[in-house]
Amino acid sequence: MSDVEIFPQLQIPETLAAGPGPGNTDPRVLACFSNAGLADHMQTDVLRGMIECKQMLRLLWGTRNTYTFGVGGTGFSGLDCLFSAILPGDEVVAFTNGTFSGIDGLTIRMKASGREDLKANPMDPKPANVTMITVPHGQSVNAELIDSVLAEKKPKWAFMAHWETGSGRINDLRGFSDACERNGVMGLVDAVSSLGIEDFAIDDFPGVVGWASCPQKGVLCLPLTYAPVSFSDRYIDAIKASGCHTYVHHPILEARHWGIVDGKDVAAGSYHRTHSGYAVAAFHEALRITLQHGRTQKARDYAHHERALREAVVTLGCEVTSNMTSLVVLDLPPALAGREKELVQGCRARGFGIWPTLSEPVQIRIGILNQLSEQAITEIVVRFANAMNEMGAGADVARATEGLRRYYTQKMAAE
Ligand SMILES: *Cc1c(COP(=O)(O)O)cnc(C)c1O
Repeated sequence: MSDVEIFPQLQIPETLAAGPGPGNTDPRVLACFSNAGLADHMQTDVLRGMIECKQMLRLLWGTRNTYTFGVGGTGFSGLDCLFSAILPGDEVVAFTNGTFSGIDGLTIRMKASGREDLKANPMDPKPANVTMITVPHGQSVNAELIDSVLAEKKPKWAFMAHWETGSGRINDLRGFSDACERNGVMGLVDAVSSLGIEDFAIDDFPGVVGWASCPQKGVLCLPLTYAPVSFSDRYIDAIKASGCHTYVHHPILEARHWGIVDGKDVAAGSYHRTHSGYAVAAFHEALRITLQHGRTQKARDYAHHERALREAVVTLGCEVTSNMTSLVVLDLPPALAGREKELVQGCRARGFGIWPTLSEPVQIRIGILNQLSEQAITEIVVRFANAMNEMGAGADVARATEGLRRYYTQKMAAE
């Protein structure tokens, strides 16, 4: 007899996902997911859908890189594919300034480790050939720092997150790419949080040879689908010359299913692993929605609504330390300092999904992924203000909502 019973059907409530990600999935994406017919991974329309996704990704990401496609899974799946080019003993410089670039740094140390490095510290190896440059939480990685370290170390690879979601900071992508070019370094970038939010084009940053993003932030396709990646010819040549230690995340082999063979587009993909027609249909629709919105317009809309949220939380007495446009990272007013996690838990218990920072110092993160309207921002502000006031903050909710109304009215009049 087994102790395991058959559980009731799993019900998951609808919440207001107002964190750093995932963002609310568009009903059009969910409809495409559930309306797709059952078709295997070599069926003509599934393969055609993957090729169309590849082409839309190149457009969204502003690149002619042939090796632009999706890696099945989450952001870290795409990053694992990106970092697969790093081999044991490779010289790497990694700039980190928060939770996610910190995890990327760990991945890089694991890939660059030799057997002895792994044995010495299996969960957190520290190979001498990897230089970690840690910029404090709340600060950005800047061009001077990048250039001075790369000029001194001249590594094979350098890494940086474009937008570090853990601390809400934008890092200097122009400075990173230029320093990589100047010092003959191949740049690798975590663009998980910026793709689909920021208006930038890969081909403007030739010092960066490899990019990875995720399905669930700017692209807004949580039905677990594809982590976009893009590789320049230089990156692919490095893989061709030296190989890498993975089949499933192999940048050249995985590309075959997306119709990329020997550096060229071919009419239809060939088997690499089983893809889901449901996932392909959802991802395809998410890319269509993003392109219909337009990269430039979408970036403008995020900046516009982030500013509204930022001004409102400042009115409530908080201090904002972030500069990304998809979320604000803030310190509570002094009277509530130290009670961040309690506040976040109270909100989450009521279906209002905001987040604390995951590494020190403890701050609060409120995101606006797919919440681009006056009504949505106002609801976020009111729910947050009410939660603060239940803990005795005495914040002026009416003043904050009045400020929002004025902000949106003025902007509309100006347009
Ligand atoms: C969210 C995030 C990740 C991790 O993405 P998952 O989808 O959780 O695997 C990595 N890097 C950055 C910058 C992120 O914001």
